[in-house]
Amino acid sequence: MEQEDIEKDLNGLAEQSKGLDLSPAEFDDFFKSLANYSSDFLKDTHKGLAYKETQDKGLGIRSIPIPEKGARNPDELLEHYKKHVEDAGLNPASGGHLAYIPGGGVPVSAFGDFIAAITNRYSGVFFANPGAVRMENLLVEWMAKELGFGDCYGNLSSGGSIANLIAITAARDAHGVEAEGIRKAVIYLTEQAHHSIQKAIRICGLAPAVLRYIPVDEAFRMNSVLLEKQILKDKADGLNPFLLVSSMGTTDTGGIDPIEELDKHCKEHGLWHHIDAAYGGFFLMLEQFSYLKKTIAQVDSMTVDPHKGLFLPYGLGTVLVRNKKALKESHYYLANYMQDTLSALEEESPADYSPELTKHFRGMRMWLALQYYGTDVFRACLEEKLLLTTYFYQKVENLGFVRGPEPELSVCIYRFVPESGDANQFNMDLVEAVRIDGRVFLSSTSINGVIWLRLAVLAFRTKKATIDLCLQVLEEKVKMLQS
Ligand SMILES: *Cc1c(COP(=O)(O)O)cnc(C)c1O
Repeated sequence: MEQEDIEKDLNGLAEQSKGLDLSPAEFDDFFKSLANYSSDFLKDTHKGLAYKETQDKGLGIRSIPIPEKGARNPDELLEHYKKHVEDAGLNPASGGHLAYIPGGGVPVSAFGDFIAAITNRYSGVFFANPGAVRMENLLVEWMAKELGFGDCYGNLSSGGSIANLIAITAARDAHGVEAEGIRKAVIYLTEQAHHSIQKAIRICGLAPAVLRYIPVDEAFRMNSVLLEKQILKDKADGLNPFLLVSSMGTTDTGGIDPIEELDKHCKEHGLWHHIDAAYGGFFLMLEQFSYLKKTIAQVDSMTVDPHKGLFLPYGLGTVLVRNKKALKESHYYLANYMQDTLSALEEESPADYSPELTKHFRGMRMWLALQYYGTDVFRACLEEKLLLTTYFYQKVENLGFVRGPEPELSVCIYRFVPESGDANQFNMDLVEAVRIDGRVFLSSTSINGVIWLRLAVLAFRTKKATIDLCLQVLEEKVKMLQS
């Protein structure tokens, strides 16, 4: 191609492609639409449903074609979003979301995401944006200190599942579990461990390892005596016990494993101790859980989820790992094309400690929220969630429900046993009736063949009125199903 032709084509293409940027007027216009949409949404979130069944279940989004030429109409696009996405299914921003593990999504974090995306800063490598990397590193350090983990390195991940994967991979490599050795390697956990643990084990190639499900006590906590017996037996049988996964806050019941005793056995027998505290970790910010910190300060790794216990929007988990070298050796890689980045090494680079390279600058959503709100309001909110759970636990008995163990955190289980008929089926019907009603959203679980309803209070917008409403809905639906 002639140089002249190239220049001509470039002029034409520049004219066509410049539309990707917004004119100041377009930007303002979009921003206004966005502000209107968001503030309307937040207004409605306090009175709207926690779950909404729609006719087409969001199918309408498929009938809007991706255009060759965009209409550049923000209001129209937000209308599509509202109708087909916002309106259908679960509303995790609602205080009435009392199922799975909620969080809520504090609004200031959305501004953090916005700034991170507008400036498109890269927080993977120190060289690329030292300030962004320092911010993510300082957040890891802040969590490590606040939660009692202490000296470590860690990583801001997309969620708890990836955090667990990173920790288990580091444990695998630190213990040299590879090739033929995998079949002899033993991992200890309970039936109550979150399924992301089994998923991580499989993804990082440990599927052939021996998984020992240690029995639990009446509150579904790992039995540490039986753990030690099993470790001793496995050693005697020539196996290689290398990893224990305990939980601070199981998903089903919010139970806390006896981590102090478990950790003793880990130290004695040389096991890597990983605590999955994705749900429960931030309760360590409260005085009443400080008794756990002595142990937390000694374990090898821990997962916590700011998009649960810090009420941030979905998309932020964290792994803390004591053995920085092991964490790095599992995740570090140097590509020739990145050699220039080696000139700046003042701080560690997140990309060396995670499977990710180019990534969302997700530290900004957390930093902005913590700076804007301060930590007191988070503590108060966590305290409130615990108390709301106790309140519910006391009240639900008056409605004739059988209750599971006393809640240690902010999850509890309960079930209704009708005078006749299949109790499991009754509770399945009950959770379905609550779902269709939509004012609050609950979920169920099955433990040893018994169906329980769960209450999980961790949405920051959940208040006493929400719990009262939940109790009222339960009462109504039990009556309805019995009539
Ligand atoms: C939520 C949760 C996970 C998974 O975390 P994600 O952020 O959903 O990937 C792992 N373990 C426990 C105990 C959890 O509650």
